[in-house]
Amino acid sequence: MKKVLVLEDEVDIRGFVVINLKRAGYEPIEAGTGAEAFDQWHANPDIKVALLDVNLPDTDGFEVCRKMRAADPHIGIIMLSARTQEMDKVTGLMTGADDYVTKPLDSIAELMARIDSLFRRAGVSVAIDTGEILQGPFRLNTRNRTLEKNNERIKLTQVEYSIMKMFMDNPGKALSREDILNTVWGRDYFGELKIADVNIRRLRIKIEDDPTNPNFITTVWGFGYKWGL
Ligand code: CA
Repeated sequence: MKKVLVLEDEVDIRGFVVINLKRAGYEPIEAGTGAEAFDQWHANPDIKVALLDVNLPDTDGFEVCRKMRAADPHIGIIMLSARTQEMDKVTGLMTGADDYVTKPLDSIAELMARIDSLFRRAGVSVAIDTGEILQGPFRLNTRNRTLEKNNERIKLTQVEYSIMKMFMDNPGKALSREDILNTVWGRDYFGELKIADVNIRRLRIKIEDDPTNPNFITTVWGFGYKWGL
């Protein structure tokens, strides 16, 4: 489940947000005080996004935000405040919040859109965290810079690894030979485009079942190459 912590002491507002979160397919975890929020967070370490009210009975939402951010660099945090002063916004972002919404909540749709966007980003950072990109039979480990196909290691040069990484970062997208050259060799490389072709031919021999009839790295005639499964 996609868990969202809702820290808000005003029961009406909290209920309104909770209902909308449930409708959107999230699992809201409720808290009315800073202390409750930390209890809930410890009980639900898989919370990915937290909505934090600023004015709370026992503490200040910025303080909650600061502690959460210090403990977890990846959790998405949206501050919720009745105050509209620009200073609050600055303070909120300084304490590590990702976003800021003012009350009254004129547009619940907008709040939901911001939560969705933080979830998408949280998903991305999880992928970076594990250091692995999994696509079809391929597993690219971005920490060790290694590639496996069907759990078997394929030995790659650093250049081949960089090309694979670029492909797997851009599935289904046609990449021009210039793009590949710039990304892999650097913008100040003045070599020939053919160097990209040569490396890709070698990469195909290593990863394709039939390199003369490639399934994964296909040629986009007159342009470049495309990665697909
Ligand atoms: Ca409040």
